Amino acid sequence: MAKLRVNNRKKTASMLPCRQEAAALIAQLVSGLEKVGLAMKSRTWRREGRAGLGPLQRQVLTLLRTKPGQRARISTVANELAVRLPTASEVIATLEEKQLVRRRRDLSDGRVVLAQLTAKGNRSCTPSPDAPDRLGAATATLSSPEQVVLLTSLVKVIHSLQTQGEIAVARMCVSCQDFRPNQHANAERPHHCDSANASFGNCALRVDCKEYKQAPVAQANEAWANFTGSGTA
Ligand code: SF4
Repeated sequence: MAKLRVNNRKKTASMLPCRQEAAALIAQLVSGLEKVGLAMKSRTWRREGRAGLGPLQRQVLTLLRTKPGQRARISTVANELAVRLPTASEVIATLEEKQLVRRRRDLSDGRVVLAQLTAKGNRSCTPSPDAPDRLGAATATLSSPEQVVLLTSLVKVIHSLQTQGEIAVARMCVSCQDFRPNQHANAERPHHCDSANASFGNCALRVDCKEYKQAPVAQANEAWANFTGSGTA
């Protein structure tokens, strides 16, 4: 048994890259992520081209689709898509001309303008059940543990991109008011969601949760430090 443990340690150590290999590994990971992004983008562009929608128009529709009531303030759209307010207003006006979005005053504050998806707009950004989900199929080729590692790694990459200001808003557990990382002794379900009042593991981490509520900075930082000390349940 002791011999087996030593052999396993040797095997694990030999899998760890040296400093030079680590730099090459990061370059390969970046290249791989770019390839995935490119594949998805060219596919989306082809589809959008056929539907007569530009990439930003598609992003606005998809964003509105995730919002309660499928509506949001124009300023929220601008903020979450990291574009200027006039750009968001212009895109929404174009989408309104195409009858995919309608603008109206917020009943609770007449000075605020909301953009809401129309039924046509909802149909235009809902994935067709006939269309093969290529990325889903590719991800399904991974084993369950690989999928959990990938999800956890993506959370960390997205968090870093947010910190660098490359992503404005990501409705992820790790920055949510209701996230309580590593609250439970259960190794498979160590985290707690106050909103659902339920424990969960890394396999159920959300990267785009409708119930998300932005945590204050101090709470988010503390949760992040706590979370990154965890393993991959
Ligand atoms: S409300 Fe959503 S984002 Fe917040 S902790 Fe619960 S599951 Fe995560």
